Amino acid sequence: MAIKKVAVIGAGVMGAGIAAQLANAGLEVELLDRVDPKNPADRDSISKTAIQKSLTAKPGAFMLDSNAAKVRPGNTEDNLDRLGDCDLIIEAVYEDPKLKSDIFKKIDAHRKPGAIVASNTSTIPLKDLIADQSDALKKDFMITHFFNPPRYMPLLELVTSEHNSPEAIAEVTRFMDEKMGKGVINCNDTPSFIGNRIGTYWIQTAINEAYNHGLTVEQADAIMGAPIGVPNTGVFGLADLVGLDIMPHITKSLNERLPANDDYVKGTIDHPVIDKMIADGFLGRKAKGGFYRRDKDTKQDFAIDLNTGELHPKTRPFMQAAENAKKGGFQALFETKDAGGEYAWDVLKKVLCYAAKHVHEVTDNVTGVDQAMKLGYNWQYGPFEMLDKIGVDYFINRLKAEGEEVPEFIQQAAGRTFYRVDAGHVQFLNKDGAYENVQRPEGVLLLSDVKLASKPVATNTSASVWNVGDGVLCLEFHSKANSLDPEIVSMINQACDLVEGSKGQYKGLVIHNEGADFSAGANLGLLLAAAKNKDYAAIEGMVKAGQDALKRLKYAPFPVVAAPTGKALGGGCEVLMNSRYVQAHSETYPGLVESGVGLLPGWGGTTELITRTLQMEKEGKIPAGQGLQKAFQAILMGQVGLSAFQAKDIGVLRATDGVTMNKSRLLADAKAKALELAVDFKPELPHDLQLGGPAAHAALNAAIDGLYAKGFVTPYDVVVANEIGRVMTGDGAGAPKPVTQDQVRALELQSFMRLIKDDRTLARIENMLKTGRPLREPANGKSADELRAEVESASASAVKPAFDAVADKKAPVNDNNNPVRKARKAHAPKP
Ligand code: NAD
Repeated sequence: MAIKKVAVIGAGVMGAGIAAQLANAGLEVELLDRVDPKNPADRDSISKTAIQKSLTAKPGAFMLDSNAAKVRPGNTEDNLDRLGDCDLIIEAVYEDPKLKSDIFKKIDAHRKPGAIVASNTSTIPLKDLIADQSDALKKDFMITHFFNPPRYMPLLELVTSEHNSPEAIAEVTRFMDEKMGKGVINCNDTPSFIGNRIGTYWIQTAINEAYNHGLTVEQADAIMGAPIGVPNTGVFGLADLVGLDIMPHITKSLNERLPANDDYVKGTIDHPVIDKMIADGFLGRKAKGGFYRRDKDTKQDFAIDLNTGELHPKTRPFMQAAENAKKGGFQALFETKDAGGEYAWDVLKKVLCYAAKHVHEVTDNVTGVDQAMKLGYNWQYGPFEMLDKIGVDYFINRLKAEGEEVPEFIQQAAGRTFYRVDAGHVQFLNKDGAYENVQRPEGVLLLSDVKLASKPVATNTSASVWNVGDGVLCLEFHSKANSLDPEIVSMINQACDLVEGSKGQYKGLVIHNEGADFSAGANLGLLLAAAKNKDYAAIEGMVKAGQDALKRLKYAPFPVVAAPTGKALGGGCEVLMNSRYVQAHSETYPGLVESGVGLLPGWGGTTELITRTLQMEKEGKIPAGQGLQKAFQAILMGQVGLSAFQAKDIGVLRATDGVTMNKSRLLADAKAKALELAVDFKPELPHDLQLGGPAAHAALNAAIDGLYAKGFVTPYDVVVANEIGRVMTGDGAGAPKPVTQDQVRALELQSFMRLIKDDRTLARIENMLKTGRPLREPANGKSADELRAEVESASASAVKPAFDAVADKKAPVNDNNNPVRKARKAHAPKP
């Protein structure tokens, strides 16, 4: 039975979030909550309000606002009949066994035979939940434990029982993995499963040890964050994020269910300051703040003293151990002889021993624990990967030296590692001390596996090319934040050379990396340094080389499929736009954001966006006459798609581009697409554009004048807008007569050079590098015309020669190996 329709019972934090993600996956959803006793007339008020909240939440729960219409609000008094045609019913009411039991009975009475019933409980074992349920329900009952927020956290813990059929388990697994985009980890039926069992033990230990070592919350978080590969929230920041009230619930549940000799139970200590915070409603970010507080008026940040409960201004402590970890990793962290180093060791030794003691009780093997901590807590390494990084023998020796007991499973790994690569396969150490291959689900291909098992086909400091099999190469960026620099540009060309020169051995190229973000955009530091030196020839060379490399991708005689996740900004977005096809992770955030640093997309992005929006107009997808406005607005405002679907609306992804919900399936999907396109591949051919020319440019400027007069745009926005408008209307390239895309790209370069010579652009770049935010210049009383005239007279003479070189059709770019010409030749009509 395929899951096509789903109901969610309970429209709280989790239920509403799960319903939104189901809608994101394209399903129709019934969302039922109680009738609010305070508002009985509006029967669905709770679920209606929940849907509204999901729409306004930041970050948003819906990938497209229109997905909200797929969630139908209802209530459990009047609408249980709606369960009748649902294939999966997910319960997400309060963590109360009695309440859940009553709800399951109601569901059982209304569901169709065989419909799966799943609980989102975070702590209650499955056997307890089904104890008093019908045999039929037992057969169809599972736990599907999402993490908060359900859209963004990729972990799904799945608990099944001997009553379930293999088919039902397979279908729920497939659905959660492929449709909902989750990493499904099979858990044994133990209290709090994997993530919260290990994760809350870590939080408990890190808090207890912060007291033992006399650290402040800021000091503890400075160690429990980046130095150990954990998000910067550390442990106190994380408690604030998830809500301090959640912890006592989990603690109570674990203490009721775990044996008295479990380290978690033994480590449960009352901290009166924390108890008082909870009692006084200081529950974290959702209410009044927690360990960290912000004064709403002064915006000043404070932190709490763990012993007195008093506030002090938040500090950014210098921790020698954290500094040492940057260079020397875990061992350097632990070997630092101060409170920070000792704290790191005392927390991690306990947590890693706890994980080793319980791994085979909570799941099948180490991969389950490692994956759960990475997907559910955003750890960079799971506990066993950490042990490998630390060095198993170092860990054992230090435990022994301190007279501590070494868990049997860690002892088994002595002289070895928990993971290794053998004959091209990643393997893990199993319960019996033997290595077994890590099995990826079918359709999952990880670049990290390819990298462990092979050598790059080509590599430099910022990028590499890998062979991902079946004749497909993968271009990986690996510079800092995957920012684009000359090394990457060179590797793009090398990748093209490799495919073109392979005599058919390579059929296509995928552009993909496993960083959190596909690319933060061009390396602004490099650009700023060159601009400050007035090294304009070098800048022009860099921009032109990038433009040519991306043009080469665009017209390549083989399929280029980009497979991004996370941010794809500026130049990163232009890489996508110049790829023949994009197979995007649903959580991809692309945007042409150059205007924020006083520039415009100069690697073909401006040309490509106007080409696309004019095409959308032609195809009737947007009203006639709005193509220019849409593209202009997207670039001037630096619009970023907050999901792959939103990016399609903006035009930075095409309507036909693919979306993969599960990040771990992205590379395989992109590779499959490249192979599909490679069959009878027809390269893209350049075509002329019908742009509006000077008149259209003047109209855009007039619109900007209006915004400027109202104070909606800054003086320098007027200047930047003028340049964007010039390119998009082909003003200066011969429009309104048809112009070539190359001519428009030449305009891009010309405008880019004009802007990079302006100090206000440099000020914007500097501000962005320093603060991560765009600078907005104050009003200066000048008219829009004056502002535009200023920049034109200042830079026109300096830029002219460069423009001529590019725009002159008699001197075509990259003539030696011009892919456009080759493509044209190959597809010229045969006589
Ligand atoms: P919540 O308090 O935000 O929401 C619970 C919802 O259940 C409320 O909207 C409430 O009105 C509704 N409800 C209560 N009785 C009902 C009834 N008879 N019929 C229909 N609806 C009813 O809780 P939550 O945080 O969303 O947690 C829900 C479940 O998910 C719990 O089992 C919790 O342990 C689990 N969970 C929570 C988190 C988290 O971080 N909040 C994470 C993972 C799992």
